[in-house]
Amino acid sequence: MEYRIGVGYDIHRLVEGRKLFLGGVEIPYIKGLLGHSDGDVLLHALCDAFLGALGEGDIGERFPDTDPQYEGISSGKLVKNVCALLKEKGFNINNIDSVIVAQEPNFSPFKKSIRQAVARSLEIQEDRVNIKAKTNEGLDSIGQKEAIAVYVVVTINK
Ligand code: MG
Repeated sequence: MEYRIGVGYDIHRLVEGRKLFLGGVEIPYIKGLLGHSDGDVLLHALCDAFLGALGEGDIGERFPDTDPQYEGISSGKLVKNVCALLKEKGFNINNIDSVIVAQEPNFSPFKKSIRQAVARSLEIQEDRVNIKAKTNEGLDSIGQKEAIAVYVVVTINK
């Protein structure tokens, strides 16, 4: 059995006038994440983790935002594309662990629904996906509620 590990990180700015999406789930909050289409920072970090495990570079290389076909592409489509590559290379998803770092909103009530949504979109069992949520103890830009960051680690095998 061949096992591989990938790590992903992303951070997006919180701004007014946008909806907040994490892992494909809409979270009620007064601000949302700036970025192409939905700005789903968790799905972006997840894509980077898979690409890392596959030895396929990063999200910016694979989906350049200067290329019109990827301009404003939804994060769900990026995940589907990366999953197709993973299957094509003969790999299965073993597990995913993640940390959402956000001062606000409180993600604890949404961890379960985010977990379910991520598992569903990847067509894997829920117990292979883990979502953790932490604040930044009021420190730096995240602590000042200006941004949300996500760390993801994945293991894949074939
Ligand atoms: Mg991003």
